[in-house]
Amino acid sequence: MVSAGFAGGPQERPMTTKAPALFVGHGSPMNAIEDTPSSRGWAEVVARFPKPRAIVAISAHWVTEGMRVMSNARPKTIHDFGRGFPQALFDVQYPAPGDPALAGEIVRLLTPFGAQLDDSWGLDHGAWSVLVHMYPRADVPVVQVSLDIRRGPEQHYAIAQALAPLRDQNVLILALGNIVHNLPAFFRTRELLPWVQSFDDFVTGAATSGDAASVLNYGARADAREAAPDWEHFFPVFYALGARGDGERATVFNQDYQPGISMTAFGYGLAA
Ligand code: ZN
Repeated sequence: MVSAGFAGGPQERPMTTKAPALFVGHGSPMNAIEDTPSSRGWAEVVARFPKPRAIVAISAHWVTEGMRVMSNARPKTIHDFGRGFPQALFDVQYPAPGDPALAGEIVRLLTPFGAQLDDSWGLDHGAWSVLVHMYPRADVPVVQVSLDIRRGPEQHYAIAQALAPLRDQNVLILALGNIVHNLPAFFRTRELLPWVQSFDDFVTGAATSGDAASVLNYGARADAREAAPDWEHFFPVFYALGARGDGERATVFNQDYQPGISMTAFGYGLAA
């Protein structure tokens, strides 16, 4: 659902509008084709900010050695999950255009990090399983930026700070992972283990107050080992946190807890 005030064509997407920085817990690829509390939340959140002119997506599912920026004008839809999923999920196409000019601008912004254009990727399920609900018409260009496996939390945070000025050009920063992501626990138990909520509360509390230092130091917490064993699903948190503006406080939504997974999302620059 898009509110009437924000709906419409490109003429209603001024470049001067400040777009949000969002972190979204994406969870199972099945959210792409199912009506779930999370997928409903993704469809609804777009009513809280004007339609962006483009999206920079940082997904847990594009991990590279060295920084890569997707340069494709027509990115393919990548079905990067196992064969156990239904054909309907493999049939999903998300034909949003890329934005090679924006990709070039991102490479310039990220020159200190050695970013390079890359046309080997496309849109992975971390991105499109959410975007099919946010922008089902696939009419907002998307550029994916990879997660560089060689870097630690502070450097990912610095990369996000370098991307932050794009928000002033109405470019949405969309980081896609999961605050809590422990698949062995997800498959082992139906019980909601205490570290799911405790770690999620810690991150959302710090994100709300803008306490980046605590989140960057998450590994010092006793519950982090179980809650965030998969760095690539947790580090996208740094991309929303690092792209926040001075004095911005996070809005938290989609607090849906599952054994071993939290679907929580938060964002800066969302209307109440
Ligand atoms: Zn994932």
